[in-house]
Amino acid sequence: MEPRTPLKPGSTIGILGGGQLGRMLTMAATQLGFDVAVLSPRDWAPDARVAAHAIHARYDDAAALKRLHELSDVITFEFENVPARTLEVLAELGADVAPGPRALACTQDRVDEKRFLNDCGAPTVDFVAIHDASDIGPALGALGGGPALLKTRREGYDGKGQAWVRDPSEAQAAFAAIGSKPAILEAKADFVRELSVIAVRGRDGDVVCYPVGENTHADGILRTTLAPAPGYQDVQAHAEAIARKVVEGLDYVGVLGVELFELADGRLLVNEVAPRVHNTGHWTQDGCLCDQFEQHIRAVAAWPLGPTEARASVRMENLLGPEVDRWPQLAAQANARLHLYGKGEARPGRKMGHVNWVLGDVR
Ligand code: AMP
Repeated sequence: MEPRTPLKPGSTIGILGGGQLGRMLTMAATQLGFDVAVLSPRDWAPDARVAAHAIHARYDDAAALKRLHELSDVITFEFENVPARTLEVLAELGADVAPGPRALACTQDRVDEKRFLNDCGAPTVDFVAIHDASDIGPALGALGGGPALLKTRREGYDGKGQAWVRDPSEAQAAFAAIGSKPAILEAKADFVRELSVIAVRGRDGDVVCYPVGENTHADGILRTTLAPAPGYQDVQAHAEAIARKVVEGLDYVGVLGVELFELADGRLLVNEVAPRVHNTGHWTQDGCLCDQFEQHIRAVAAWPLGPTEARASVRMENLLGPEVDRWPQLAAQANARLHLYGKGEARPGRKMGHVNWVLGDVR
């Protein structure tokens, strides 16, 4: 990769997407002296409210994309379901888009993503592409019986669009439960724990990773990350090697999250990759000198990457729905660093904020 001239403070970074990840990216960019222009289809979006420029428009609104391009020196995204076509349109206008459309497109389809992962030497569970319900029985056989997890190929997140299939008699119901959409059937991973590694690749091809975190989920939604993960020294090099294959294989620029299953025999399988800053990297805000949000801004702005080592152990806890009402108690705790997203209605399961419990020295 060709080294680039670092983007000067005072330049403008465009962000596609309106959520909390964009909000925290905006705050990190602002700290480095950049302005941010946000394009979001949502009115009153969490990141639009802290950005210098807010464009309220759909991702396929040609005039809005032109406006974003005119405002921005580089454009990135905070949401992996931005249409890949949107990035292509911006690139055709001459915009500098990072990460690029290819990385986004590959990670938007679970089958394409797993094929890519296996091709670049990053192991995953066995899987079969599913076109309709009649494919499920034979696929279950090919995966060694059940149970197996049926997921929509596209647009699933936080456990949405997923159904377990224990035997072929459940095929029809499972396919209906995920909306009768093109799908992937995945063998069940018998993991001992879920881990993740947050990687960042700079414009010059430099790759660094944060210490591996240990994650717990409920109903497919992340609840906690403990980082560095207990015993992370034993898995760090292995996880980093996998992450490096992924970011190099995608010719990636920016932060990317790699979710891993750790098996009893020590193998690591990639569950999925997210081409953006990641919920399991939120601990870095209070555990590291340079967090994942600043790191992403540094990468897309062609700045040198920042340090990634942990200065403290952190337990990140997501505040879902009405759990955010605990803010007065949390704000009174000396070691609880509170991050709230400024969202309106606290619907059950909605990510309203998170708290980083700073546990002290790295264990
Ligand atoms: P995903 O949306 O693919 O990240 O899945 C959400 C959660 O479901 C994961 O964090 C795991 O806890 C669980 N899960 C996903 N895929 C599998 C699998 N193949 N085997 C076992 N559990 C899985």
